[in-house]
Amino acid sequence: MPEEKSFHLTPEEFRRQGRAVIDWIADYYEKIESFPVLSQVEPGQIRASLPHEPPPHGEAFEAVLKDVDNLIMPGITHWQSPNFFAFFPANTSGPSILGELLSAGLGVQGMLWATSPACTELETHVLDWVADMLGLPAKFKSDGAGGGVIQDSASSAALCAVLAARERATLFESNRRGCDGRLIAYCSAQTHSSVEKAVKVAGLGRENLRLIETDESLAMRADALAQQIRKDKEAGLIPCFVCATIGTTSSNAIDPIPDIGVLCNKEGLWLHVDSAMSGTAAICPEYRHINQGLELADSYCFNPHKWMFTNFDCDCFYVADRKTLIQTLSILPEYLRNKATESGAVIDYRDWHVPLGRRFRSLKLWFVIRHYGVEGLRHHIRRHIELAQNFAGWVRADEQFELCAPAPLNLVCFRHIAGDEFNQKLEERLNRSGKLYLTHTLLKNHYVLRFCIGQTHTEERHVRQAWQHIRQTAEEVRGSR
Ligand SMILES: *Cc1c(COP(=O)(O)O)cnc(C)c1O
Repeated sequence: MPEEKSFHLTPEEFRRQGRAVIDWIADYYEKIESFPVLSQVEPGQIRASLPHEPPPHGEAFEAVLKDVDNLIMPGITHWQSPNFFAFFPANTSGPSILGELLSAGLGVQGMLWATSPACTELETHVLDWVADMLGLPAKFKSDGAGGGVIQDSASSAALCAVLAARERATLFESNRRGCDGRLIAYCSAQTHSSVEKAVKVAGLGRENLRLIETDESLAMRADALAQQIRKDKEAGLIPCFVCATIGTTSSNAIDPIPDIGVLCNKEGLWLHVDSAMSGTAAICPEYRHINQGLELADSYCFNPHKWMFTNFDCDCFYVADRKTLIQTLSILPEYLRNKATESGAVIDYRDWHVPLGRRFRSLKLWFVIRHYGVEGLRHHIRRHIELAQNFAGWVRADEQFELCAPAPLNLVCFRHIAGDEFNQKLEERLNRSGKLYLTHTLLKNHYVLRFCIGQTHTEERHVRQAWQHIRQTAEEVRGSR
């Protein structure tokens, strides 16, 4: 009898093609600077190049990989280019990529401890390591009442924090009957939009999110927060949640966590601290002061997938009291019942976030930490901050440009003195050149350029070239007017 066709890759083919993919990635990093950083395609261009119908018969792997080059690469914006200075970094590294590959190879779904004990226990262990690496308060570690969990994003972490705050404030009544419209949450006008989304999703209602004024440095005003909480209480409302930020997305402002924390503790509000990008800086003792007051927080998150060389997605979310979080999110249908869960001796991370299923994400983080060691991570974070500080110095020294906000770490907000329209044109022309990619924000109603340094391979020469190119392009914009 003839053998039936299996359609699968044989182990031999997998080895060969797997090596080809690793080579492809290595080649990519070697020539990454030759691509325009911002993809230059028009909307719809990538789809138009793809076949209308799916292939009826399997195709050769080589043909697929070739199409990655020909059809996909033009539509890639190169986040891993050392000339990427836009938004915030979403950096990665060799050990992270390999850890991710291994995680895909194992194909583990770690919803319960029992569905892969290593997936749960490595995560708990690595998150305790990370807490020590960043000097986080001991209460966030798993040997006390708290603990950490990997979420897909800071947005999901914020949602879990809002949900736990909601339940704590209503003694788990909201879980049973929904919100009654009286719960109030607070953040500043500079807080990341994910908090507004979390408040909407959690059913508090967007009108129940108070945007607290900021001061000259764009940090939340604790006195204004206190006043608003008082006003809301007098009106019979129930203040329950505050999000403070260490390193806002727009300008890297740092909210006064100690003052906000004392207030939240006194008034019984859940304090969530979002340090999505900047949190990584605390790995260096000289920047650890950014975490001042964190011992007063109920939850904290930062993203190794931004600035700690670990590819998306990987957000570390810590709570001081895991019982409240678990009680908020726990479900136990019959088909998930098992001895280990019932014994109470294990962590089931499905109760620590919204999805049930979960990937083995701690593997890549573990690879990164073991490869670089604390020393290696510190080295690169220090270098990025130093490069940003040099850049800020060049802006300060050039009378055509000005700084628009304090630059405490790796983000510099600046503009040309010729006004909003000029800066808009300058940004557009810079990004169209493909030589670098930067983005903008609005600060105090002015159009401001943001220059954020955090890509793994950004070196001094890239930052120097970028500054030269910015100055030269500004001259061209001036000339064309
Ligand atoms: C980037 C960022 C976020 C959103 O991060 P995701 O992980 O993409 O949800 C939230 N808060 C701050 C301060 C950020 O910088």
